[in-house]
Amino acid sequence: MKTTNRNSTRIAIIGVGNVGATFAYALLGSGLASEIVLIDNNKQRAEGEAMDLNHAVPLTHSTRIWAGDYSDCAGAAIVVITAGTAQKPGETRLDLVQRNYAIYQSIIPQVIQYNPDGLLLIASNPLDILSYAAMKLSGLPANHVIGSGTILDTARFRYLLSQHAGVDPRSVHAYIIGEHGDSEVPVWSSANIAGMALSDYCKMNCEEYNEDVYAKIFEQTRDAAYHIIERKGATFYGIGMGLVRICEAILRGQHTVLSVSTLIHDYYGIDDVYLSLPCVVGRDGVSKFLRLPLDEKEVEGLQQSAQVLKETIHKLGL
Ligand code: NAD
Repeated sequence: MKTTNRNSTRIAIIGVGNVGATFAYALLGSGLASEIVLIDNNKQRAEGEAMDLNHAVPLTHSTRIWAGDYSDCAGAAIVVITAGTAQKPGETRLDLVQRNYAIYQSIIPQVIQYNPDGLLLIASNPLDILSYAAMKLSGLPANHVIGSGTILDTARFRYLLSQHAGVDPRSVHAYIIGEHGDSEVPVWSSANIAGMALSDYCKMNCEEYNEDVYAKIFEQTRDAAYHIIERKGATFYGIGMGLVRICEAILRGQHTVLSVSTLIHDYYGIDDVYLSLPCVVGRDGVSKFLRLPLDEKEVEGLQQSAQVLKETIHKLGL
């Protein structure tokens, strides 16, 4: 189905493996998109997913879904890229860099040929490196190239904290910043429940309150992907929903604060690198990142995270 109308909201998904297909399914259920086009170099896979998803349409939102090619990126409000190799058990996200950068070198020019003014939402790993690469390869302004960043890590963190505190995860306000990967940083200094510092809340309300418990919660957050991949081979539900949440903030112009990866400048000495901080996300992509006040340990952690990312960017010659 290649026709569109002036009011359509087209989302193109490039790479329809575990993450891309799960995102497409969650997006269909959200009703946010009137058109979803699936693009994959494994065309049969894209066709199969489109057929399967179309059979859910009569039971949910009216949506046109088809397996297309790059010309179908024309007019898409957002092009979401989930193509690439995924981590195998024991592999880090940074181990994927050469393979997935080569894939991005082939994908991005084709997207830009047909959609020179759109928004790119990057989900492939290593996330921050590929988001920076996508900005360079596309020539788009940085606010139009958004990495899903630590939206997933922050969700994992909030979930685990909520289990500890015995409240709804949506009532826990805490962020993971920095790399979407091993050097990510928990922001304990501003973590809160109902405006109460997390430490105060836990002193009064949690069964166990000590530094070891917090350290374990962060470890489980940071290493969650390894534990899931060991058990089921891949992770995709959390990120699928995270991508829908980012698309919602964009398409509805919500100005929502989300921890996504963006180009950082002049923040605690960090410059010209993509990493995650809480960002305001709306119709024009990332309108700003929030200059969170951090404590000394958090600043040191973030600077180290930026350093790891910069070294990888330089190795790619970007
Ligand atoms: P997958 O192997 O299931 O799917 C990848 C898809 O990309 C495949 O269908 C493949 O055919 C396609 N592809 C490969 N090269 C392509 C190209 N040149 N053009 C078009 N399509 C191409 O992998 P997955 O589990 O879906 O993971 C995809 C990516 O998402 C990985 O890099 C993974 O590490 C990452 N990921 C990110 C997060 C996050 O939080 N951002 C979470 C989970 C996974």
